[in-house]
Amino acid sequence: MKLWFLTGSQGLYGEDTLRQVAEQSRAIAAALGEALPHEVEWKPVLTDAAAIRRVCLKANADDGCAGLIAWMHTFSPAKMWIAGLDALRKPLLHLHTQANRELPWSSIDMDFMNLNQAAHGDREFGFVQTRLGVPRTTVAGHFSDPSVVARIAAWARAAAGRAEVATLRLARFGDNMRDVAVTEGDKVEAQLRFGVSVNTYGVNDLVEAVDAASDADVTALTREYEELYRVAPELRAGGERHDSLRYAARVELGLRHFLDAGGFRAFTTNFEDLGGLRQLPGLAVQRLMADGYGFGGEGDWKTSVLLRTLKAMAEGLPGGTSFMEDYTYHLTPGEELILGAHMLEVCPTIAAGTPSCEIHPLSIGGREDPVRLVFDAAPGPAVVVGLADMGDRFRLVANEIDVVAPPEPLPRLPVARAVWRPRPDLRTSAESWLTAGAPHHTVLSTAVGAEEIADFADMLGVELVMIDAETTVRGLSRELRWNHAYYRLAQGF
Ligand code: MN
Repeated sequence: MKLWFLTGSQGLYGEDTLRQVAEQSRAIAAALGEALPHEVEWKPVLTDAAAIRRVCLKANADDGCAGLIAWMHTFSPAKMWIAGLDALRKPLLHLHTQANRELPWSSIDMDFMNLNQAAHGDREFGFVQTRLGVPRTTVAGHFSDPSVVARIAAWARAAAGRAEVATLRLARFGDNMRDVAVTEGDKVEAQLRFGVSVNTYGVNDLVEAVDAASDADVTALTREYEELYRVAPELRAGGERHDSLRYAARVELGLRHFLDAGGFRAFTTNFEDLGGLRQLPGLAVQRLMADGYGFGGEGDWKTSVLLRTLKAMAEGLPGGTSFMEDYTYHLTPGEELILGAHMLEVCPTIAAGTPSCEIHPLSIGGREDPVRLVFDAAPGPAVVVGLADMGDRFRLVANEIDVVAPPEPLPRLPVARAVWRPRPDLRTSAESWLTAGAPHHTVLSTAVGAEEIADFADMLGVELVMIDAETTVRGLSRELRWNHAYYRLAQGF
């Protein structure tokens, strides 16, 4: 994945100046390339409308280009940017910077002034972007400032998520859980807005792949489990329930094969529709999530899309990202906490320590006891994000949270879980979340945060409601009302 670095100038200043503009912008692109997690490709300095339009069209057509960083080194009369920006369909970051950090007070002359004039060149560029309604992220400051680099990096990760979801293919095994409202949604609109294609397969297509897994592969995979996790003695080779572990491994092999053969990077399952599967997939789903696949339970394709997208954004970062469900509360005044979990499917990338691999009964689904990884989530700042279909648009809702160690051990809870304190407090968070109509299924990430998610929403023109330390229910209710009007108007007819 590459980011293109565009530099704006004009012919007025002569060849000498343009040569310096090229040198300096090349140096800045190289410095950003070093500092950012993605490659930065410098493009020749742009001085006319035809070249600008051409580079924007090329960016649109190049799957390897995830976004553009634009900087007006000198004064670039912005009418020359109209055709290009109007055609641009890739994420744009307007970097408002300078080659020099310090002003050379004692030697500064008009040549220096004419060369280093982003201070007004970028204002001209800002005007034309706003006049055209171009979605973008604006970052100001010297390119060597770590906080500037961090801000650009967050945008670049959002662009990586946007690039991923643009071509994502998702396989659903069965439909939604019957009668559930929030997991429904408009798949045609999702494909138009995000790019993701969502299609359903009969669960017995998966069963065929599961049954086709070879015994040798199953054996090898169960050995891997025994190395990686604290596997319960009854599940180990020679243990009385080892067959259940072997079947869990078989499900993983079949699922992996099915998804890879179809080019799917996200999927859903539904415990009401298990066909010939002997266990509800637990361990398999957890391990596929850990390898970067998106997942949603009960046919929840929207959360699965979101999970894959956030995993793409988080690539290379410490921390983890998982499917999550708000399950139950600790409501002691002043100590309120949310306990999040799912029937089985929580991603081990958020685990504190080595997960244990266990088998327990599951009261729903009506199949054999499923194998699963059990662990507590590692403490730290995090975000939970949900995606709801409001009928005329999608709404992302995010809450900044702090994952904490459980106040006491949970020896009888046979599933992986996370315990967190939502910001600003449980009452405000929950009242805001419910008022926004946000879902009970979410993605929890300790790797990416509010900045990446906000940039991602802006890139796609998707509504984002952020619940954080500053949120009040009254303010949020007003924001929702305004958003209603704004997003209807912004859509046109
Ligand atoms: Mn659920």
